[in-house]
Amino acid sequence: RWEMRVGVAGPFRIVQLIDRTGAYAAEQMRIDFVANASHELRTPLASILGFIETLSDEAGADPGVRGRFLKVMFDEARRMQRLVEDLISLSRIEAEKHRLPDERIDMAELVEVVRADIAATDAERARAVITAIESDVPAVCGDEARLSQMLHNLIGNALKYGRPGTPVTVSLRREGGMVRLSVADEGEGIAPEHIPRLTERFYRVDAGRSRMAGGTGLGLAIVKHIVERHRGRLDIASKLGVGTTVTVLLPPATDAVTKA
Ligand code: ADP
Repeated sequence: RWEMRVGVAGPFRIVQLIDRTGAYAAEQMRIDFVANASHELRTPLASILGFIETLSDEAGADPGVRGRFLKVMFDEARRMQRLVEDLISLSRIEAEKHRLPDERIDMAELVEVVRADIAATDAERARAVITAIESDVPAVCGDEARLSQMLHNLIGNALKYGRPGTPVTVSLRREGGMVRLSVADEGEGIAPEHIPRLTERFYRVDAGRSRMAGGTGLGLAIVKHIVERHRGRLDIASKLGVGTTVTVLLPPATDAVTKA
């Protein structure tokens, strides 16, 4: 995509060709994002409106029907709520892009906090989470709320896509001067051609399965932004039928970071 500008300078005509490929790609991504987000919101909204209409006529008089319909409406409204919360998170994280995180975070502690959070809402699921944490892992320089969100998204995915009854292993250790966190599941795995695209907004391998499990399609896009903001690295390794391991490398905090 080139833009041509023609000008005159004295006796010369100047033709300037400007490469706009990047700008067009960014614009296209923005258009796709708004279209996808609207579509994702429209579907549950249409369903809620449909059920309200049905409840307003005779069918609504039957308590059994009413109970069932209200349950569906509740689930659909929760789906919209999750999506709106993820959209807000994404835009906040993008807005914070240029502000470096400055809290001293003990990742081992944070992993335990997140595990307790998961246990508070679903004790059964939390039992699948096992941790392998080395004792000498240095603190990282980070934003606690965001790192917690990153852990929730990664552990949540491992629980969602892992086979029932299999463990999710969260490991933390020091590696080559970095803090290495990994979340491994024994699930269906992901075919290699999908892996590079998983951090795109709304990219899903199986949209139906993701929605059934309560996914928004934004979890890994949020994780990628958080990792980038912490100057870290994200790696997804997977084998079909075996499982998936997501690894995050974060730089350790320097002594200059004192804020607790
Ligand atoms: P979602 O809300 O759909 O889970 P994510 O952005 O978190 O969205 O993940 C994008 C897609 O990547 C998912 O829809 C799923 O297809 C795939 N995926 C993510 N984590 C895993 C995993 N641990 N095992 C298998 N597939 C996964």
